[in-house]
Amino acid sequence: MHRIHLSHLPTPLFHHPALDALVGTEVWIKLDDSNAGAASGNKIRKLEFLLAEAQIQEATHVITCGGEQSNHARATALAAARLGLRSVLLLRTRDPQKPPALSGNLLLERMAGARLRYITPEQYNDRDALMQEEKEKLRVEGKRAYVIPEGGSNGLGALGWVEAMREVRGQLNLGLGAGPKPFDAVVHACGSGGTAAGCVLGATAFDVAEKVIAMAVCDSVEYFRAVIGSIIVQAKALQSTLNRQSVLEIFDTWKGPAYAVADSDQLQFIADVARCSGVVLDPVYSGKALYGLKMLQPKPRRVLFLHTGGLPGLLAQAADFSSILG
Ligand SMILES: *Cc1c(COP(=O)(O)O)cnc(C)c1O
Repeated sequence: MHRIHLSHLPTPLFHHPALDALVGTEVWIKLDDSNAGAASGNKIRKLEFLLAEAQIQEATHVITCGGEQSNHARATALAAARLGLRSVLLLRTRDPQKPPALSGNLLLERMAGARLRYITPEQYNDRDALMQEEKEKLRVEGKRAYVIPEGGSNGLGALGWVEAMREVRGQLNLGLGAGPKPFDAVVHACGSGGTAAGCVLGATAFDVAEKVIAMAVCDSVEYFRAVIGSIIVQAKALQSTLNRQSVLEIFDTWKGPAYAVADSDQLQFIADVARCSGVVLDPVYSGKALYGLKMLQPKPRRVLFLHTGGLPGLLAQAADFSSILG
C-alpha cells in the first residue's frame, strides 16, 4: 500500500511515575500529539495513506468534514497545503449564519488556505452526500477532488494505526517500553473509529497487546461496535495478512456532558496531569480517555495509552479552564 511520510517517527514512549500514581496503574504514553508540527495528532498517520491515494489519483483538491474544532480537518488542511493540494472543509456548527471565532483549529485551517463551509448538525447527518456534491461542483470546474470521510476513518486510513502498532513493537524490542513484554491493553479516545480499528488489527499482529480499550467521546458503545467493525472489514480487504483481532472493549461511560464538553472533574484531571508530568491532554478526546482509565475498575496493569493530540482545541477552550485554574 502506498504511503507518504508526513510525520516524525517513531513517536516517543513516555513514562512518568507521578502519572502512574495519578491514574492508578502503569501507563506508557505514545506521544502522537507531537508527530508533525502544527498538523500533529492521530489523524496524520491515517493521512499518510489517504493522501498517498489522493496523489495517485492526481487529485487537485481534498474534501473532508468534522466538528467545528475538528483536529482531523486541521491536519488535513495543513498536510494538503504541504503537498500542494487545496482543501475544502465541511464543518458542523450550530448556526452557519453566525460563524465561530477564528481560534484553535479554525485559525490553522484558514492559515493553510482551506475553504471552510459551515453546515448545521442536521446537514452534517448527510455529510457524505454533501461532500460528493462539493466534489461534483469541482469536477464541473475541471478539478479533481479526493473525498476523505469523517476522521479519516475508513479501511485505508486505519492502516496508519496498524503501522503504528508495528512501530511500538520495534520500540519494545529496543527496550524503550521497559522491555519486550506486550502491554495488557492499548487505551485511547475514540471519535470516529479508525484508530480503534487499526489498533485492534495491529496490536495483535505485532504482539503489542491482546486488548484494545476504546473510550468513546460521543455516540454509544453499540454505535462504535458497528462502525469499528465495518472499518475492520475494509482494512482486512486491503491487507489480507491482517487475519487476527485483539479483544475490543468500548466504554461510553466517561464521555462527559456532551461531545467537546468536559465536566469539572475531567478539566481538573487534565490540569493535574499537566502539573505532575508536563503532558498536556485535551478536553475533547485524550483527557476524557485517560480520565476514563483512572475511573475504570479493574484496570489493566500495564497500559499503552495513545496521546492522540488535540492541543489547538484545548487552546480554543481556554475559558472553560478558568474556573479550575482560578
Ligand atoms: C480524532 C481524534 C481522536 C479519535 O480518533 P478516531 O480515529 O477518530 O476515533 C482522538 N483524539 C484526538 C485528539 C482526535 O483528534
